[in-house]
Amino acid sequence: MEIKLFINGEFRDSSDKTIRTSIDPSNGLEVAKYHVPSNKDIEDAVDAAKNAFANPLWKNMSQDQRADLLLEISNKIKERSKEIVDIEVRDSGSTLRKAKADIHNTSAFFKVMSKVARELKLNILDESATRAGFSINSREYTPVGVCAQIIPWNFPLVMAGWKIGPVIATGCTTILKSAEETPASAGILAEIIRDAGVPAGVVNIITGGADVGRRLLNHPQIRKVAFTGSTTVGKEILKTIAPNIVTTTMELGGKSANIVLNDADLSIAVDGALYAFLYHSGQACDSGTRLLVQEEIYPEFMEKFLARIKEVKVAPTTDPNAGYGPVVSEKQMKTILGFIEKTNSEEAKLLAGGKRLMDGEFSKGFFIEPTAFEITPKNTIFHEEIFGPVVGITKFKTLEEGIALANNSKYGLAGAVWSRDHAKAHLIAGQIEAGTVWINEYHLLNPGMPFGGFKESGLGREMGTEGVMSYLEVKHVWESDCDSREKKVWLDAIF
Ligand code: NAD
Repeated sequence: MEIKLFINGEFRDSSDKTIRTSIDPSNGLEVAKYHVPSNKDIEDAVDAAKNAFANPLWKNMSQDQRADLLLEISNKIKERSKEIVDIEVRDSGSTLRKAKADIHNTSAFFKVMSKVARELKLNILDESATRAGFSINSREYTPVGVCAQIIPWNFPLVMAGWKIGPVIATGCTTILKSAEETPASAGILAEIIRDAGVPAGVVNIITGGADVGRRLLNHPQIRKVAFTGSTTVGKEILKTIAPNIVTTTMELGGKSANIVLNDADLSIAVDGALYAFLYHSGQACDSGTRLLVQEEIYPEFMEKFLARIKEVKVAPTTDPNAGYGPVVSEKQMKTILGFIEKTNSEEAKLLAGGKRLMDGEFSKGFFIEPTAFEITPKNTIFHEEIFGPVVGITKFKTLEEGIALANNSKYGLAGAVWSRDHAKAHLIAGQIEAGTVWINEYHLLNPGMPFGGFKESGLGREMGTEGVMSYLEVKHVWESDCDSREKKVWLDAIF
């Protein structure tokens, strides 16, 4: 497969002929060749987005027409789902089950965006601010302009969808940079966007690493940056874009607390805790990597947890039974193994796993055993995001102690509470400093609801109405309701 640059509605080669390859992390084999944009290509992409933003065809398009485009994209993703699943499994190290869910969820996301776009009110009279004989006040919403959107490799199609959906819903335009590890599904999405009839230049898609991202973000025409990735890079990006004062949405890292109370239903909570930290080999931003278990049930919970962890099926991603596959790259694998080594050196108790899998079918891929440590806040992994299949388990006595442990983090992306007492669980959910809190659930997201982080986990929200509104500028339009010169309140202000 060859992924070209998608600029101004056309697929083209990199102008300086830079071509790289992405590999299948299950076996190291090549999956796709992708074109890396030169400075000129980036300039062309921004120009295309700028011209498309000003194009009356796009500018004056009705909300119904935008909604129809989004629905068409949703349908076309569904039509091509088998092909996308096949490539996503090999390109990103997603299991078959995860890739199917990703493609289904992205199609569903565009459908929800279509509904949001259709119902979006871009001119709202505010009755409560309006005073007869004085002022008529309304809010007018207008698209921010040319966006630069940068996504990570863990949920490639989902992340691209979350970014592009609101752009089309609001009348913005964009240059989306996909991650160099996983360029493939964004290439297919570009074809879908073209075939759905989105005007040329509204969505431009390029692939590359940090250097491409930096060059794109530095461009003075960019009016909004939507970034998903690590907190470290997020901080660097905020510095890069500060001189241009652009609007941003930052979806960053996490170290989410998963709290199991004494009265939890362990027949669900144990599996829920494993799913929370092992889904996609732990490479989910909202992973429940700090498992906080209340003292009274700790022995029983741990006995069940350590029995069940052995039943998780680690396998190459094309195996339909794979519960989890490799991590995305050799670099990521080394980072994870480094954290495991550090935790061992800090004398945390290793309860399960801890090693790379190397035998037989694993020999050419980047596989790590499901790993669990008993830790305290003194351990590095209580605080640092690993982004791999490693959980730190901590015992607590009282609810106050559990909440304090949960909030003892610079991050605040997500969290969960497992309890049969719903009122108590809601009380705790209210006190967890995080953008999403599940009760007796984990990882599930609703495209109609906001997603994002407190503290160092981000700025702003994606999805839901909040996510769409972040692509709009609000304007206060003040109309005078006073035609009498004598009654103007400012008449004697300067005379
Ligand atoms: P990363 O921060 O290394 O890279 C993310 C993207 O930014 C990539 O496309 C990369 O090429 C680009 N990039 C890197 N340096 C850049 C720079 N200086 N300027 C511009 N672009 C740059 O993250 P990653 O390793 O790809 O992904 C893992 C991280 O993403 C984790 O921290 C995870 O928690 C986070 N994440 C967050 C969410 C969320 O919604 N909060 C979702 C998924 C992943």
